[in-house]
This record gives sequence, C-alpha cells and structure tokens, in this order.
Amino acid sequence: MVKLSDIKSGESATIVKIQGHGAFRKRVMEIGFVRGKRVNVILNAPLQDPIKYSIMGYEVSLRRNEANLIEVIPCKDDTATEVADTNHLRTINDSDPVTQAQHESNKINVALIGNPNCGKTSLFNFVSGAHERVGNYNGVTVDAREECFNYKGYQISIVDLPGTYSLSAYSPEELYVRRYLKDEIPDVILNMVVASNLERNLYLTTELIDMDRSMVVGLNMYDELLKSGAKLDYDALGKMIGVPIVPTITKSGEGIPELLDTIIQVYEGKHDTVRHVHVKLGSEIESAIKEIKDSIKASSLPVLQFSPRYLAIKLLEGDREVERMLCNQPEHKEWKSIRDRWVKHIEEVCQEDISSIIASEKYGFISGALRETYEQGEEPRNVKGTEIIDTIVTHKLFGYPIFLMIMWLMFWTTFELGNYPKEWIESLISWLSGIISSYMPAGPLKDMVVDGIIGGVGGVIVFLPNILIMFMFISFMEDSGYMSRAAFIMDKIMHKLGLHGKSFIPLVMGFGCNVPAIMSTRIIESKSSRLITMLINPFMSCSARLPIYILLIGTFFPNHASLVLMSLYVLGIVVAILTARLLRKFYLKKDETPFVMELPPYRVPTLKATLHHMWEKGEQYLRKMGGVILMASIVIWILGYFPRNLEKSNEEMTHQELIEQQQNSYLAKIGHFVEPVVEPLGFNWKVSIAILSGTSAKEIVVSTLGVLYSADSEETSLSDKLTADNPQTGKPDFNPIMAISFMVFSLLYFPCLATITAIVKESGSWKYGAFSIIYNTAVAWIAAFIVYQVGIFIS
Ligand code: GDP
Ligand code: MG
Repeated sequence: MVKLSDIKSGESATIVKIQGHGAFRKRVMEIGFVRGKRVNVILNAPLQDPIKYSIMGYEVSLRRNEANLIEVIPCKDDTATEVADTNHLRTINDSDPVTQAQHESNKINVALIGNPNCGKTSLFNFVSGAHERVGNYNGVTVDAREECFNYKGYQISIVDLPGTYSLSAYSPEELYVRRYLKDEIPDVILNMVVASNLERNLYLTTELIDMDRSMVVGLNMYDELLKSGAKLDYDALGKMIGVPIVPTITKSGEGIPELLDTIIQVYEGKHDTVRHVHVKLGSEIESAIKEIKDSIKASSLPVLQFSPRYLAIKLLEGDREVERMLCNQPEHKEWKSIRDRWVKHIEEVCQEDISSIIASEKYGFISGALRETYEQGEEPRNVKGTEIIDTIVTHKLFGYPIFLMIMWLMFWTTFELGNYPKEWIESLISWLSGIISSYMPAGPLKDMVVDGIIGGVGGVIVFLPNILIMFMFISFMEDSGYMSRAAFIMDKIMHKLGLHGKSFIPLVMGFGCNVPAIMSTRIIESKSSRLITMLINPFMSCSARLPIYILLIGTFFPNHASLVLMSLYVLGIVVAILTARLLRKFYLKKDETPFVMELPPYRVPTLKATLHHMWEKGEQYLRKMGGVILMASIVIWILGYFPRNLEKSNEEMTHQELIEQQQNSYLAKIGHFVEPVVEPLGFNWKVSIAILSGTSAKEIVVSTLGVLYSADSEETSLSDKLTADNPQTGKPDFNPIMAISFMVFSLLYFPCLATITAIVKESGSWKYGAFSIIYNTAVAWIAAFIVYQVGIFIS
C-alpha cells in the first residue's frame, strides 16, 4: 500500500482511497482529493510539513499526517527519471492509472467487531467457507484472522477481531481492537450486535459512532428476536443513529448477501442512511467536550483516524491509550488542564465519577432510541426501576396530566412559597432605606441613593427568592432525568408544530432565562428546528418577567394568582406555537431526519448538584442587578430628576412641586413622545418609559416603575402606589384591565438585549435578531390592544 506522503517531489500519483474519520475524509474530498484523480507532488522534502500538491490545476497543501491517510498508485511519469521503489512497479502495468486505481479501490477491508458470542466467527466462517471452531464461551477468538473473497466484483477482506463489550482499553482484547482500528484503518467497520440483547450490545456501537468511521451494523440472531415475538423497526433505528442496520442469521447465512451489499454501498458512499450523529452526553459533559474538541481542532489535528469528539470524550474518561496518542502534541498540557478542570467540576457536582456518568448517558441514548423503535415480545423480562417509572411518566394517557401537575406545582411554589422570603427582603429594604434617609444629608446624592438605587434595584431584588425557586425546579427536573421524559412525551406534539421533542427542553428552560435556553438549542441536530426553537424561545416567559406579574397580580388579582400566572405562561406558549407554525409554513421547510431522544437513567439529584445549578443561574441574576439594572436605574433617575426648576432637593419639595418637577423632566418628554403609540393599550407615559427601559432587561420594567412612582404618594409599597389616585386625573393609573394588557405586552414584546445577542450569535445572522425585535413587538402590540379594547368594551 503506497501513501501519498511517500511520493516524492515532481512525481505524481492516482488516488485510490481516503482513510480516517468521516469529517476528515469529507474535507479532503472537498478540496479535490477524489478517487481516480491524479495528484502532482510539487514539494515534499523529508522534514517539510505541509507538503505541496497540485490537483485539478489547483495548488493545495496537506500536512504529512493527512497525506499519510491517502492511499495512491504512483504514476509512471515521463519527467520522472526512474521509480526507485520496485515495490511500486509490481502494481504498475501498462493499463492507465485511473483503471488501475479503480481496480485497487475495489478492495474493501472490513473489520468485524462485536461483543463476545455475537456470531462474528459464524459470519466469518460463512463467507470464507472455513470451519473455525464456533463456541458459546468467551475467548474462542484469540487474535485476528483475515479472510479474502470476491463478491460482486469487489475483493472483500474480513478480519475477525476478538470480542469486546466496549473500547475502554481495560482488557487486552479491547486494547487489541483499538490499536487495530487505529493502525490498520479498515475501510468499513462491521459491528455485529445480538438482536435479543440490544441494550447492552449497542453500547459498543455508541463508542464506534463516536469515532466517526464508516460502519454497518449486522443485527444478528434475528431469528431469536422474531421467536420472542419482539419487534424492531431497524430501518428507523438505523436512520436515527446514522448507521445502516441489516438483520442477519449468521448461523444459517440468511441476510449475509444483503449485509455485504450494504457494506459495498457504505464503502462507495452511496447509502442514504449514513450520517454522523453525536451520542449526546448531557449538557455539562457536552460543554466540556466542546471546549476540548475546539482546542484539538485548532491544533495540528494529531490523530486523523478518530474524530476530535472521540478524542475529547476519551480524554475526559482519562483513557491512557488516547493520552499516549496525544502526548507528543505541544498542546497536550493545555488539553489536560481543560480536562482536569471539567472533570473536577463535573464529579464534584454529580458526586459520581466521570466514566460512569458518560456510560449512563450512553445507555440513555440507547434506551431513547429503542423506546421509539423496539416493541417487546410476550416473554417476561425482569424490569428495572427506571423502566417502571418510565412506563408511568411516559404513558400515552397519564404522562400529560403528570407533567401538567408538576408544572402547576412549580408555579404554585414559585408564587406562594416565594412570597414569604419576598416579604422579609421587602422589610429589610425599607429598613435600609429608612436608615439612609435619616443619616444622609438632604441633596441630589441622597435622592439618587434612595429613589434611584434603592427604589430601582430594591424593587427587583425582592423577587430573587421567587426566581431561585423556579430555577431550583428547572434544575431538579434536568438533573433527575425527568426533563428528558417530558421532552419524550412532547415529541408527538412538537412534531405537529414541525419541531422535534428535543426543542421542548430549551423551551422549558426559557421559563428560567431565555439566554441559556437559546444556547441549549445546540442539543437539536436539525438546523431548521433549532432556528425555530430559538426564535420562539422569547415567548417562553422568563423569570425576569416574573416581577412584573407578581407585582400586578399581587395588586389586582390576589385571589386568582396561580390561575392568572399560569394563563400568562400559556398565552406565551400559544403565541410560540403559532409562530412556529407560521415559520414552518412560510420560511423554513421541514426536514424529516429522525433523531434519538436520549432517556438517561433517573438519578436522585444530589442536593449539592441542584443547589449548584440553581445558584449558577441565580448568580447571573444578581450580577445583572449589580450591572445593568443598577445602571439603568440611575439613568432613569437622572432623566427624571433633571432639568431642575427649583433649587431644592426632592425631599424638601412639597408633593405638588415634586409632581411638577417630574412632569417637566427629560424622562416625561420621552414618555409623552411615545405615549400616542401605546395609548390604545391603556398605558400612560410612565408605563411607556418602563417599557422602553425594559428592552435592556425586563426586570427593569419594575425597577423603572419603582423609580417613577417613588415620589408619587406617601404609600410605602409600589403596589399601593400604583393603586393610589393620581392627583392629576383623580383616579389610579393602573386598573385591572390595564394591568392585564400591560402584562400581556411585557410578556410578548422586544426580548431583552441579552436574548437578542444570544439569538444573533447562535443563529449566526443579525437578521434573526432583527426579526425577533420587530415581530415580537408587533405581536405584543396587537395582543395588548385586543385585550385592552375588549376588556373596556365588556366592563
Ligand atoms: P463470536 O464469539 O462472536 O465469534 O460468536 P460465534 O460465532 O462463536 O457464535 C456464538 C454462538 O452463537 C454459537 O453457538 C453460534 O451457533 C450462535 N449463533 C451464531 N449466529 C447465530 C444466529 O444467527 N442465530 C442463533 N440463534 N444463534 C447464532
Ligand atoms: Mg469468535
């Protein structure tokens, strides 16, 4: 076998095949290295890297380790004086090199991999006609044996490798198989799995999928599966995992011709099912993988036989073999330190070692894939706890009420239980504001601290307990594994919207905060589904909008709090659904590629993990307080404080003077300017200001109201101030109908700047950010208009 890297400067060669992991092969083929094409070597000095080539008239360069994975036939070239290596001469005859390459590329090397006793040797014997001992015990196959035969014009060479349950390189067999895959680089991996024990057998398959190499799965002992009365939709399963699956009975030879045909199709790149899927491993591990993978990709790609994702996973597992492959790389230290940091973090949070977490996530992938394609036979099996719970919570009938109950519990706890600590914080803040009032000398500074900072930031910080409770629920659902089940039962419904069940998780997370939710859409493989999920996410009412609801519901609808709160969330969901349907209809066509919905095993989340995840989110909230909200409160206060007509501080003014002062402020001018636009929705100029300022972060809506109404009356709480009579109009600024219209508008309009930024970043285009701003605000206006006008009409 001659490699492209062996060809000297000035000589040329014809390409026979390209080895290595799928993404690498694709990239190399895209730049022109296709079978049968002739390459001229421009510059290949022994210590030179990269090597320069010209192919199809273009000049390209490849690294030495890349050229090493391209198999070629050297061409006799008139300009080349002599072919030094006589070995090369053996394969060169008078026929032209393209036919020659064609001939060479008809050789397919197949590696047979599978658990012990899955029928590898039986298959090997069937195709080779040999009579090796077939046994029903471990270790019959000691080392690899190879057999060559001709099939439909191809020369297929099959290697029977020792049986392994995984590729973790603990046993000599596993190590042997791994080294074989790395050094011999078979063209196609034939993974035999036992049909009657799929869950366990597919574990090895997930490891092979990570490698991203050409592969076919032989579903062996299919007779036993049929006998047990079970059903498996292997075509659907194959499409989900991106690997063709062919049922076989190697004992009798049934299905073997089909299996060989499939191997040829896969080798030729002509099988539609082939696709590289990611066996998803949970959000934290995925973040770790991404960081390591990006670093590996940015380096000189040390090992091209395996995908960077595979290397990253193995590094996380602390795999010694991969460590050895990579240890000469200059970036090795950096990768190790990224790895160590993540492993420490993940193990601390989950209280479990990383290898077992990865393993159980993989089993989650498998059981998710099987749940949709496998139907159990009559024969009773012993069921595990996970399966018992799963049959209940993913039940066709009970699944939904259970889910709704959990959601309702979440909202109830958020509102009802959260109110106690909220009141404590409220009294703490009024105590603090009292102290400052009595100790600070009167003047603009004091006005700013009391009205601007405490009025603004304090008005929002009181909602921290409610928000933490909601985050705790979301974290608990994620960590326990329930979230995946919820996604699972929602799959059908989501399909009706033209989305995928997986879109459901970012949508629920959106109730917490749209920004991480939009980032978590990365779990969705389909591009169009991902985009739609991102665009409808802002309609999932995030926790920043919660203060607005809690304030207004507490003021106007204290007796129907949970109901009103839930209705608002439902309204958001309905708008999201309609938007998704519209987008599918007019903009993004549907794609039907099936994906696995992982069902990771249930875990009782450790208190530490839940609190940690809750805190991660709560911390962002507090940081926002200190940053954006503080700044915005001060800016709003300044705009409302100036220009000053009287040489007095706010405190020294009479109530009438104060109101006049505010009426003439810059803020009022801005507010009055936009007022006509929002008047049909029942909003006055103060509300317009709150809405405008809420575009930076929706918490600021409440803090702005806090600042604007702080001077208005003698009442202490904002809620009382809103219902107090406005001395100018003689009636309160807020009433129940206007409150609903305001909540609806706040729910739907302009997502906050952070969300817009996330959408632009994740979608890769500012267009979608602009769409969100315009579309959402228009929808909000229309919805609030309908609510207000209808409300006034019927009241
Ligand atoms: P290996 O360990 O993977 O090489 O598996 P073997 O080829 O040695 O087979 C293990 C056992 O499974 C033997 O007893 C075979 O007779 C049996 N076997 C192989 N293929 C089939 C099949 O398709 N159906 C059934 N029922 N048994 C099979
Ligand atoms: Mg064997």
